[in-house]
Amino acid sequence: MAKTRTNRRTLDSYTVKSINKTVRAGDCVLMRASESSKPSYVARVEKIESDNRGGNVRVHVRWYYRPEESIGGRRQFHGSKELFMSDHRDIQSADTIEGKCTVHTFKSYTKLDAVGNEDFFCRFDYNSSTGAFNPDRVAVYCKCEMPYNPDDLMVQCEGCSDWFHPTCIDMTPEEAKRLDHFFCQNCSSEDQKKLLNSHATPRHADIKVESKRRRR
Ligand SMILES: [Zn+2]
Ligand SMILES: [Zn+2]
Repeated sequence: MAKTRTNRRTLDSYTVKSINKTVRAGDCVLMRASESSKPSYVARVEKIESDNRGGNVRVHVRWYYRPEESIGGRRQFHGSKELFMSDHRDIQSADTIEGKCTVHTFKSYTKLDAVGNEDFFCRFDYNSSTGAFNPDRVAVYCKCEMPYNPDDLMVQCEGCSDWFHPTCIDMTPEEAKRLDHFFCQNCSSEDQKKLLNSHATPRHADIKVESKRRRR
């Protein structure tokens, strides 16, 4: 039986009518999940194509995985908005796109003043068949030696510059936020205590509770 070959055309952009948003290759999008109870899938659009009459628009996508969708599952250090860039590619109807979103680098995510619904971050590539991550090593912090979870408050030691979770140093988050200076147990020698007491004005106006990554 002869099969007619449909010529497909690459489009520079496509406007999804239901959301009135224009999507281009390179954009990150939310796509309707197969089960309505599940959160939207997140993907990066690699190519948009239609049939030669401009209909039947399809998007070539590369999926982002949520931590719970990975083989190892969600770990304590995974942020609530964390995604992994997978090697899993697919072709989907453009009409399953239900929104656009931004997948930030880890660094730019931690610098956001406010995290909106459409803000995510990605620090790992993920191999969907082996479950392996790239990079496979990350900096760890605190006494608990955990990678940084941007959802968690951390305080920085002025001695060694390591970052600590308040709960790991027997502090409540409220106490940690009120700190002007912090020296971890290892750094709290007599010298540092003297130095601390001698400060008429704080050396640092505020304790840093922002994120910092440090390789060990
Ligand atoms: Zn800790
Ligand atoms: Zn220290």
